Formats: sequence, C-alpha cells, structure tokens
Amino acid sequence: MLTSKMIKEAALAAGADSCGIAPISRMKGAPDVMNPALLFPECKSMIGMVFRIPRGVQRGIEEGTQFYQYPSMAYGGINEILAPSVLYKVGKLIEDEGYEAFTYRNTGARGAVSDMDGSEGATLSPEEQIEVNENAKTSTAHHRSVQFTRATREGNVPPDLQFQFRLAAVACGLGEIGYSKMLLTPEFGPLQRVAFIFTDAELEYDEMYSGEPLCRKCYACVRECPGGCIPHPSTDKVIRVDIDGKICEWGDIDMWRCYAFYTHAGRYYNPFVPKEVFDKNENGALTLLETPGMVGTEDDIMKVYTALQKYFPSWVGYNMAKCGGCIRACVSMLEKKGGCMEKRFKEPLRTGKPWKMDR
Ligand code: SF4
Ligand code: SF4
Repeated sequence: MLTSKMIKEAALAAGADSCGIAPISRMKGAPDVMNPALLFPECKSMIGMVFRIPRGVQRGIEEGTQFYQYPSMAYGGINEILAPSVLYKVGKLIEDEGYEAFTYRNTGARGAVSDMDGSEGATLSPEEQIEVNENAKTSTAHHRSVQFTRATREGNVPPDLQFQFRLAAVACGLGEIGYSKMLLTPEFGPLQRVAFIFTDAELEYDEMYSGEPLCRKCYACVRECPGGCIPHPSTDKVIRVDIDGKICEWGDIDMWRCYAFYTHAGRYYNPFVPKEVFDKNENGALTLLETPGMVGTEDDIMKVYTALQKYFPSWVGYNMAKCGGCIRACVSMLEKKGGCMEKRFKEPLRTGKPWKMDR
C-alpha cells in the first residue's frame, strides 16, 4: 500500500531535501485559474518537495566576483535538471502502486493570468515571443501569460493552470512566507526551490508549520533591496492570504521593478554596464532604474532589457540574476541575529559591509 513514508523516503533518496504532503483541499481559497485542485477531478493529495540552494552558489554575487553561478545553478540547475529527475523517480513509485503522479516542475510565464501582476491575457506567450524574435528580429516584451488561451470544455479553467508555488509549499507544511515574499523553511531559510506532484492517492498529511515564526520581521530585505522594491510595513502595502486558516503575509513588492533590478541591478550594483550608459540614459530607457520609487510597468522593463541585454549575454534559459539582495540579506540576518539559519555554517555569509560601486 502506498504511504506518505514511502513517498518521502523516495523523494529524499532521489535528491530532494525535504518533502511534505497536504490534502488538496488546503488550496481551496485560491482563485480557480490558480487552484491545482482543478488540474484533474480525482486529485486528492499534493506532495511538495524542497531543493536546497547551496549558500555558496550566491557567494560570487555576495563578493561581487561571479554572477553566473546563481542563476545557472539555482534556477537552471534545480528547475531544469535536479527537480524534474526527482519528480520522475517519485512519480514512478506512485504509479507502480496504481495511482497517478501528475508531476509539476517549476515553470513560469505560461498561465492564463500573468504571474507578475495577475492581469488576464494582456501579454503574449513565450512561444510567440520566440516567433517574434526570430521572424520580426525585434526584442519584445517579457511574456508572462498565454494570451489567447480558452477552456477546452465546460467546467475546465483555461490552460495552462499555474499556481502559487510558495503558498502550496506552505500548505504542504514545508515552511512559511517571509516578509520578502520568499518561502522560508526551518532547514534552509530562504535558500530553496520547490516542485510538486499531484495524485489521486489519499495519504497521511502533514500539519502546516506552527513552530517559532521563521520570519524575524527584521526588514533587512526591505533595506537591502537595490531598487527599493519591497515596501516597508509602515506604508501598509502588505498582502495577507489565508491558507486553510494559516495567515501568510508579505510586503506588496513592485514586481516589475524587481524584475528590472533583479536582472539588471542598476548603476551601483551592475559592474557589467559602464557608468556612462547610466549617465547618458539614452531615450530614457533606464529611467526606471535611475528613479527611486518609480512604479514599474512592462513597458519600462522592455526599455531596460533592450538597452542592457547586450552587456551580459550568457543566458541560461532564465533571467540573469544580478541581485538576490533580499535573499542574502535574509540569510545574513537569520545567521547573525538568531533564526533558522543560526549555527548552520561555521562562518557567516557576510562578515563586512556589502559592496556597492562608487559611481
Ligand atoms: S530580488 Fe533584488 S530587486 Fe527583487 S525584491 Fe529582492 S532585492 Fe529587490
Ligand atoms: S530579511 Fe527579515 S523580514 Fe525579510 S524575510 Fe528575512 S527574516 Fe523576514
């Protein structure tokens, strides 16, 4: 008989770092287009798996010496290689017991609503972007939803159904949402990615996390965001969500502004772009990066990307991170001030002041 214990042991043996299992009913508060219970009618259980991000993968950005490892290893490596292989192996175990394993690896930008701002059908699909790039030879918007999707039959939601991974991880008992909107786990703080399997098997379920709060509410993430993208709680821009009785809250991040700073970092944190490019700000393309507090839009991101993409050409299928400031600030704080990462490493992530270019 298939048990939760068997699934968890298989997940850990295959390379996951932790695994939690929830009844799919815990996602009942999600809007239909983001509710994984609607993936298939017999869905009963949701299996969440955590894949740690080695702290050393961010060392290069922390020191300002190497920027490629974090996006290629922590995004490309985990999302494209490690997690799918674990999903595949655990899925085989489930299916060998006669139940279905609907594997769901990390993917973005292909839901019926934008995973950036929740808007419906306002942007092109990734495939259309490739088409436009190849045939029109232009650089286009960074597409965050499928524009022309329609329900395939009555009662279905339009494909592709995407859901909020971090909230699903909370539902599986794997951790809590930090003020920075990152998933924090007791084992790895903010350093992980997650993936899921949905199944018709009924299993023994984990409680949601109820230990010491994992977020210290220190707001180091707010202070250390180079773009000022995470609002301080005093602004009252705080999102609250109820996951089957567990309240999750986080700062209402300006996601488009974060998109720009996460990938291009701005004048003081992007060593690949000459200072003169920021000084010149040709056609106002970098105004978003140069203007504190300016609310970002998709158009602004297009301008930033068009102007700066040539300065760091090595794509890994994912945006090239120049930031991760909120994650590193959080790790540093949780190590130094007490929290789930205390005493995990012999040496702290950070011993001095973080770098900032003088220009
Ligand atoms: S990834 Fe960077 S830009 Fe985005 S919220 Fe975190 S610190 Fe700010
Ligand atoms: S930096 Fe502090 S406030 Fe921000 S998520 Fe981490 S613990 Fe919470």
